[in-house]
Parts: sequence; structure tokens; C-alpha cells
Amino acid sequence: MVRVRFAPSPTGDMHIGGLRTAIFDWLFAKANNGKFILRIEDTDRARYDKESEITIIESLKWLGLQWDEGPDIGGPFEPYRQSERKNIYKTEVQKLINNNSAYYDGATPEELQSLREEQVRNKIPPRYDGRGEITEKEALARKQVGKQVVIRFRVPKEQIEFFDEIRGKVNFDHKEIDDFIILKSDEMPTYHFAHVIDDHKMKISHVIRGEEWISSTPRHVLLHKALGYELPKYVHVPLILGKDKSKLSKRHGAESALSYKDKGYLPEALLNFLALLGWSPGDNTEIMSIKEIIKKFSVERILDHAAVFDPEKLEWMNASYIRNMDSTKLNEIIFKQVSKPIENQGLGINDKTQIEKLTPLIRERLKNIKDASYLLNYFFYDNLEINSDQLLPKNTSKENIIIGLQKSTELLQGIENLEPEILEGKFRALADNLGLKAGQLFFPIRIALTGRKESPPLFHTMEALGKEKSIERIDKAIKIIERM
Ligand code: GLU
Repeated sequence: MVRVRFAPSPTGDMHIGGLRTAIFDWLFAKANNGKFILRIEDTDRARYDKESEITIIESLKWLGLQWDEGPDIGGPFEPYRQSERKNIYKTEVQKLINNNSAYYDGATPEELQSLREEQVRNKIPPRYDGRGEITEKEALARKQVGKQVVIRFRVPKEQIEFFDEIRGKVNFDHKEIDDFIILKSDEMPTYHFAHVIDDHKMKISHVIRGEEWISSTPRHVLLHKALGYELPKYVHVPLILGKDKSKLSKRHGAESALSYKDKGYLPEALLNFLALLGWSPGDNTEIMSIKEIIKKFSVERILDHAAVFDPEKLEWMNASYIRNMDSTKLNEIIFKQVSKPIENQGLGINDKTQIEKLTPLIRERLKNIKDASYLLNYFFYDNLEINSDQLLPKNTSKENIIIGLQKSTELLQGIENLEPEILEGKFRALADNLGLKAGQLFFPIRIALTGRKESPPLFHTMEALGKEKSIERIDKAIKIIERM
């Protein structure tokens, strides 16, 4: 039975790397009819942040990565929050103490400091030498008088080897690892210790996580052995880098999961994009439905080199999802966006039928849903910002344009049905009659109607605006030109 877990530490934003790991875990579970488990690793109480936990859960839900077991829904191996599993860790730590694989340590910060200085002086690597080891009795006595005592794992002097499903055999020299803390003075386990126990107790079959953990894995392997646990399969997924090949950060355009939501990205587009960061379906297909991705997903196709985060590609993918989206769904999403109040960056428009008519006009231009407010703004509001220079195209005179625009309003007056095709025919003929090139007439009309150089097709825009508003706006533009 495949059982995988996503085990975030709620200490900050849910960033792209974490989200990608969650996606791989989820995909692997889905692809193998397995279970996807959410475990909250909150033993670092100093860095714990409740908000962060809420954000993580919201991000996963937004992407549709539903878990089968987790802190909110429980499951056969609950609790799924490490801070609630203290007793389990205590029992396991006692086992290690009993078989001499771990020891109490009462070294003071001063002692540790002086050890470090000594090592720096002698130019030897900074490794803990076990100088603070004390007996259980001594440890209890010290704790009673408020002194700090930790428990350390006694690293055996042996070569460490494990198998990573992506990288193959990995060897480690025990000399690179010193006796590390497994239970802190606040009696909370460290990450290294707690997650090993949980992975075992929760019957995790595959540990799928970021490559940054591979250097910690030797510790985990040793702990598994000392506790008599069988090793899970390790799958360390490649790092995600920025375009300049440095560690991914905000300056590469990477944002937290939920800020993509706020910006109007579609969860299916983000999921598709992230699935391709470190995995490939084996051909050049890029746009894939979630079903297809699940069908094609396998560990063999996870790449063994770093992936590069390209925000433009994400934008392109998002636009492509929007273009191909089912109309009813798109109308719904756009309506949700533009019906928000203006200060919330919507348009404060609550007329759904009107929005439905306009959606086809902007579908092709939408890079994200939030843009809908900007792209639809001038259909509802008259306060256009007109750059007067743009009203005058090259190679013709101010007078000609004024005449052209005046004739346009007259033409419009006389048309009953504002159908784009009919409009286009009539306006082309008008330009011709006036000795203007089509563009010389259409361009100032576009500016007059929208205030922008780019807009949906002109005559569709005219149709959507309606006769009265179109004439009104063209008249306004004439006045602006006359004043120039
Ligand atoms: N809690 C660890 C993290 O924050 C989990 C690492 C792992 O998956 O083992 O990433």
C-alpha cells in the first residue's frame, strides 16, 4: 500500500517549493491508489505560527490536494500534529536510552561555546564530542533545579548507505555527523527524530521531499536502524532554482501559493505548471489535465537535476487555461472578480447577464482573472483617461480627423442594429469616402471609446457599449481635439 505524507513545518508562508513537494506527494498517491497524509510538524515552538498553518491548509485546499488523513479529519494513526504526539516520542526515546543509542546531555551553552573555540583554534571541524554526557539520575537532578538537559543520539561509527529512488546509492561518512539532539530541553523532539517515528508509525511507504533534505537523510537512516524500523523508500525531488540558477526567491517572481490565488491564477494552471517543475511526462506535452498528469506520473520520470522557475511560462499557461475554459465556469469566475467592490479591485458590477456578454470579448486577452477588472473597466465607467496625442494618427490633419469623427457619430445615429460586421462595412466605406485609411479613422475611434490603444475588436466594443455611449464618447473626443 502506497502511503505518502506531506509534512510541513508551519513557520512561514507556503512557498512554491513546498507546494511542489505537496503536489508530487499527492500525485504519487493518486497514481498508485495510495493514501495522501497531511502531518503538521510543529515541534519548533519558537518558530511555530498558527497563521502559517492556516495558510498551508488553505493553499492545499485551493489546489484541490485533498488529504485522506490529517489533523482536521483524523485517521487510523492520529493525532497528525506532532505537538500532540509527545508521549509517543518519549516512549521511543526511552528505547534508545535503554539500548545505549542515546544519552542525556547537560552541556551548558558556555561549554559548547568553548568547545567550538577550541576546534576553531585547532582547525578541526566543529563536531560535538559528547563531553556533556550524564547519567539518567544526574539528568533528573539537574532538571529539578531548572537546568537544561537534552537527549542526544549516539552516532555509531559506521559507514552509512541508503538508496534514493532518483539518485541511486548514496554513501555518507559517519565522521560528518556528530551526536545530534533528538529531544530538546523543552521535551519536544527535534524534526529529525519526530518525523522518523511518525513515518514509521504512520506506515509511510515513500518519503517524497525536497532535495535539501538529502544531507539529513543519513541521520534518519541511523535513527531508523537504532529503533529497529524498516526504512521507507526515499525520493528526493530536485530543487527549484531561479532563472539565474540561484536559490529560488521572491526576486525571481516566485510568490506564496495564496498570492497566486489573489492574483487571479487558476489552481489547475498552477498545479499543471508546478507538476512540470522536476517531472516530465516523457514527451513535450505541457498542458495536461489533472487526470492526465496522474495517469502519467511516476517516480522514474522525476528528473535528477534542478528545475528552473519561469514566471512567464506560468503566466502563459494560466492564459491558456483561461482561453480554453468552459464558458459557464469562466463567466462565473469573472463575475466573482468584477462584482467585488472597487476598493477590493473589482468593478462593483452586479449584473451577471451583462458580464456574460462581455466575457467573450476579453477571454483571449486575459492573463489572469484579476485583469478582468481592468479589461472591462471602460465598458462600465466613463471616466476614461484619454491621451489626446493618441487621437491624432500620423499623415493626416486634425481637421480630417474631426470630420471623420463627426461623420462617425452621424453614421452611428442612423444604424439600427449595431452588429459588428455591418458596422465594420459601413465604417470602412466611410473612411474610404473621406479619403482616410481605415486605421486613420479606426484608431482615434478606439481611443475615444476605450481610452486605450489595445482593446477587443473595435466593432464588438462598439456593439457592447451601445449607440448612445459610443456617440457620447466620440463627441467628447472631438471636443478634446478641437481644444488642441
Ligand atoms: N517538516 C519538514 C519541512 O518543513 C519536512 C521534511 C520532510 O518531508 O521530511 O519541510
